[in-house]
Amino acid sequence: MDADAGLVWRKQPAVGGGSFLQSQCSNCTTPDVELGTVRDVTDIHIDGLVKTFGSTRAVDGISLTVNSGEMFFLVGPSGCGKTTLLRMLAGFTTPDSGQIRFGSDDVTELAPNQRDIGMVFQGYALWPHMTVAENISFGLKMRKVAKEEIDSRVSEVIEMTGLTGMGNRKPNALSGGQQQRVALARALVIRPNLLLLDEPLSNLDAKLRIEMRREIRRICKQSGTTAIYVTHDQDEALSMSDRMAVLNAGQVQQCDTPVKSYRKPASKFVAEFLGEANLVLAELVDLDDQFAQVRLAADRPKFHVEHALTQARPGAAVPLMIRPADLHPVQVDSEIISSANSDLIPLGHARVLDTQFFGATTSLAVQGEFPLEGVLRIQTPAQGVDFIEGERVALYGSQSTMWALPQDPSS
Ligand code: ATP
Repeated sequence: MDADAGLVWRKQPAVGGGSFLQSQCSNCTTPDVELGTVRDVTDIHIDGLVKTFGSTRAVDGISLTVNSGEMFFLVGPSGCGKTTLLRMLAGFTTPDSGQIRFGSDDVTELAPNQRDIGMVFQGYALWPHMTVAENISFGLKMRKVAKEEIDSRVSEVIEMTGLTGMGNRKPNALSGGQQQRVALARALVIRPNLLLLDEPLSNLDAKLRIEMRREIRRICKQSGTTAIYVTHDQDEALSMSDRMAVLNAGQVQQCDTPVKSYRKPASKFVAEFLGEANLVLAELVDLDDQFAQVRLAADRPKFHVEHALTQARPGAAVPLMIRPADLHPVQVDSEIISSANSDLIPLGHARVLDTQFFGATTSLAVQGEFPLEGVLRIQTPAQGVDFIEGERVALYGSQSTMWALPQDPSS
């Protein structure tokens, strides 16, 4: 555990409030160190934002509310409008229409330097001739904050970001992860209304990226900062966010918690963007608000799954989303699984195309046989049964995790 893990930089309500470095232990209720200026805690409201470049509607009527202290993610494929939305929040791009409010303040027309925003980018943009401490304190000097206050705030964020002892180093004497910590410390030291992070981990190698995911989330939560984070990496969004908006072609497809977005996607696009998804076609038999009764073919058993269907009628073909870890293969001879687990529905048979061993799990690609179609992906615990290429398997789906999706309008 980090030495500073028990510290929280807590924002107090406006009346007599402020930001405090406080011990978080349950029996400590009084602040240890008062850190300075009062700042209201604000929600961020985005209302009907539109930005067009020529014939491209980069942002096409986006409305969202980001709650105070929330770690909110904008995710989506390249060109879906993430950066344009972030630039409008920062004040670098002017919207064609719509409004941005910080709390009740309309900031849509304000210049970037009037918004009190902290920014962290992919390139760290540190000044190479300045030390870590000078890089961090620069924004406070520009704001003419008193020297004592600067010193106290800089040591606070140095400790919070795990840079203790590195204040006198120049950026070129730091690793990529440490440089990213300096960029984060520099953004947080001004106590921004909003922290914007644009693909901040893309320059780091895979192992460091995973470590920094934890660190960035810890630091944002510890400081109580409201953060909007842009990435095209779904794992980053799933593992770090409180809530996330999945964008496509300038519009929000779904805005939800990571678990709900992954388990209960609103569309095929969201299902496939957030991870591997098998989409098995079923016939809709009946529908109520929570459950869809479906079957894979006329002579196959009916079963109930939860759904995102709004307009489908009985008889319609609906895709069932089954995540690879929820599709269970059984060697045809054994078939013990059906009596052992009543949540599992027999779906049909398939032939193993290939297997890939990943240490903790094994990934299988199988070719479905009627009523299953196409290639299906399966993730099994690696210490289970070994499947071999060409082998025929029975497939079971976990009923409680299958999810019926609407057909895309285009299909
Ligand atoms: P990436 O993940 O690749 O950075 P993004 O989701 O951030 O993509 P944006 O950069 O916001 O997407 O771009 C959205 C759309 O607007 C794209 O089609 C892009 O080509 C277009 N676009 C963005 N900025 C401009 C500009 N200044 N002039 C013209 N077109 C632009």
